[in-house]
Amino acid sequence: MKFVRFATAGRPEPVWGVLVNDEVVELEGDCFSTPARRKARHPLSQVRLLPPCSPTKVVAVGLNYRDHARELGFPVPDEPIIFLKPPTSVIGPGDAIVHPRMSSQVDYEAELGIVIKDRISAIKPGEAYGHILGYTCANDVTARDLQKKDGQWTRAKSFDTFCPIGPWIETDLDPGDLLVESYLNGERKQSSRTSQLIFGIDWLVSFISGIMTLCPGDLIITGTPAGIGPMVPGDEVEVRIEGIGTLKNRVIADFGLRISD
Ligand code: MG
Repeated sequence: MKFVRFATAGRPEPVWGVLVNDEVVELEGDCFSTPARRKARHPLSQVRLLPPCSPTKVVAVGLNYRDHARELGFPVPDEPIIFLKPPTSVIGPGDAIVHPRMSSQVDYEAELGIVIKDRISAIKPGEAYGHILGYTCANDVTARDLQKKDGQWTRAKSFDTFCPIGPWIETDLDPGDLLVESYLNGERKQSSRTSQLIFGIDWLVSFISGIMTLCPGDLIITGTPAGIGPMVPGDEVEVRIEGIGTLKNRVIADFGLRISD
């Protein structure tokens, strides 16, 4: 099942839905409870898709593909390196990534996102899949120059718009060996498979839940493969994940938001 959050013309507040054959069927309630289908349906082309969840936190995993650790010159870690992206960095499909003036190199990072289903703490790896609602595409946008300059990653990872996610949450998916790709202006830049993850999905959920309580809608983004690179205003970036779909966003300069004023 594909869960979406969406808005329609004249009704900007988020509504949950299920995507069925290019039509969005409205839900009563949200996808974390036991939602009932309403009669109302909308063609997918007539709705504005929103970020498919509203996390209390985005937990990101650094250096979780061997080839990416190598390209950055870091040793392969023996425990996951995790960091947080603020909920205010989350945007949805089609929203603009704002290139901040403070940075001269803003990179894309295609990643598989795990959406947590319920409130969990210190669960075992064997229990993890029972607490995952589904999966989505994510772009861990990073100000690479500031990441290197600061020595820790908060500023580089946390600008508003630096966490595009979507286009929906796919619940019926085995995440063990999915093709993960990024495209910049239609040209493929990253291509790997989730079977290449250093730390697997069940192990990551268990590890992170042993550090902090995870809540419904929280997102774990699982690391990016080799091939990261910069984006500039005007670029269009896509994250494509097998079995989920395509997350597409355009990059604008930070003054772009004021052009139409
Ligand atoms: Mg990343």
